[in-house]
Amino acid sequence: MNSFMNNQPGELLREGERLERRIIRAGRLNGDRRRQIGIIYRLADSYGNRVFPHSFCSGMAGSPAGCVTGACCACRPDVFAYEKELLDRLPKRLANLGHHCPFFNRAKRNCGIYTLRPFACRIYYNHEMSHYYCQNPAEETIRLLESLKRHLEEILGSYLGGYLPGLNEK
Ligand code: SF4
Ligand code: SF4
Repeated sequence: MNSFMNNQPGELLREGERLERRIIRAGRLNGDRRRQIGIIYRLADSYGNRVFPHSFCSGMAGSPAGCVTGACCACRPDVFAYEKELLDRLPKRLANLGHHCPFFNRAKRNCGIYTLRPFACRIYYNHEMSHYYCQNPAEETIRLLESLKRHLEEILGSYLGGYLPGLNEK
């Protein structure tokens, strides 16, 4: 197994910078917010497609079901205001609260709202070679979201932190 961090120093950083430039450009586009959100979600997925093969996640996804540990969904996903509005309208698994995201499907061990999942989930990968970083974001993962936050806020509204159904944190 290889990783950007171990074998291609700087490559992960460059991918993050490329994503940031593209999001800035998307923010300058004329058009409605829904279109902009669609664009930045596709940009996040495209970033994911490039970094995934070099991540710890790709080793875990060797089975047809993909990674089924659910460790990175034992959380409250980071959301922005427009994402929270959408998530509030979706059915939730309230029994998950306290140990998993309310959208985590515990039977299938995967995301129950995969195509609608928030931006932060789309760029979350474990780039280290340890399970520890599935639940504890590594420095570069935190840095990436931090570098994108102010650009994302122009499109997705205020950053609210970890999602809680029906509750605003700001
Ligand atoms: S971060 Fe960990 S739990 Fe999440 S998909 Fe990757 S390997 Fe699986
Ligand atoms: S929204 Fe989906 S991917 Fe994100 S934490 Fe919840 S279950 Fe996991």
